[in-house]
Amino acid sequence: MKHVEFYKHNLGQEEMDAVAESMSSIFLTTGPVTREFESTFGDYLGVKHAIGMSSWTTGTFLVLKALGIGPGDEVITTPMTFIASANVILHCGATPVFADVLPHTGNIDPDEVEAAITNRTKAILPVHLYGQMADVVRLREIADRHGLYLIEDCAHCIEGIRDGYRPGQLGDAAGFSFYATKNITCGEGGAVVTNNDDLADKLQVLRLHGMDKSAANRYTNVYNHWDMVELGYKGNLNDIQSAMLLPQLKHIDERRARREEICQLYEDAFNQIPEVDFPKVPAGSTSARHLFTIWVHSSIRDKTLRYLQDQNIGVAVNYRAIHLLTYYREQLGLKRGMFPEAERIGDSTITLPLYPSLTSDEIEYVIKAVAKAVMIIQPAD
Ligand SMILES: *Cc1c(COP(=O)(O)O)cnc(C)c1O
Repeated sequence: MKHVEFYKHNLGQEEMDAVAESMSSIFLTTGPVTREFESTFGDYLGVKHAIGMSSWTTGTFLVLKALGIGPGDEVITTPMTFIASANVILHCGATPVFADVLPHTGNIDPDEVEAAITNRTKAILPVHLYGQMADVVRLREIADRHGLYLIEDCAHCIEGIRDGYRPGQLGDAAGFSFYATKNITCGEGGAVVTNNDDLADKLQVLRLHGMDKSAANRYTNVYNHWDMVELGYKGNLNDIQSAMLLPQLKHIDERRARREEICQLYEDAFNQIPEVDFPKVPAGSTSARHLFTIWVHSSIRDKTLRYLQDQNIGVAVNYRAIHLLTYYREQLGLKRGMFPEAERIGDSTITLPLYPSLTSDEIEYVIKAVAKAVMIIQPAD
């Protein structure tokens, strides 16, 4: 029997050489290699500033802090995402307010966002789910009309384009993740991008305890006194991580193209199977193609997951709707029925393997296993 991994990274000799070189330099923490990564990453996205962070979570938390979001404030986000998107709002002392998602993409519905705005709302935090960008043009327009910040969760999407915009171009700030399974990775890491000079300066300070000089500025030539100007945190990306990331940026579009090919094979096959549906990429937009998910009847989802795993296929669920998780139910008084589209997706989703080194034999094996599963497992109603 075949064994198809859920995910395989693309790190190879180029990354090993780059890491070895950074290890043999004098500087290991945030220094020249991180600055090079930040400028290359910002250029790729067409934004003014990129600031390397220890994770998406730390970066976006610091954005909310820098924008002064705290107790009494509300931030509107989606229940169809990884918990980090909502957790950072709670960590600031603010309240996450969920808005339901669109049925065909799983992305936050701008009409639901508008309906959820109150006089306590300070920001909208959309997620570019699976690599498909949310409707940033409409969200920007809604944010401007109500005087709100737009903060993009780009953990799934570096390579996307929608209505001519890249992730981070319309947001006041956007957070990226370089976690182990993301499109580019250094194991753990992240970045924030922004076109706002003041916000960029604040984030530089907040990611390093509130110090007014980074280690590179303190020690490059001679020792310089530094001052602490506010209470900051510790959230910087280091040069070893940046060295690992830089070579991956060179290959980012060709790897997206290979994932696109794989998604086309999946979509062509599943279009022939009435029991299997999947989220759609709206015409005219480019998805980063981070994750490929299918939707099966909710009564057979868990059995299908088990069947695929019995066939040695790595699968996951991205995601079960977060308003139904115990903490969110109990702390925010949320319950089933509140966000029906997110619930439907959360109850029917199965994530299939998707990465550039997936072979055509493996893709065919996965497709056949899904087809067989939905043929032999009967829905309950
Ligand atoms: C991975 C992920 C995050 C968190 O990223 P970290 O770098 O692990 O903090 C946030 N949002 C989404 C949608 C993610 O998939």
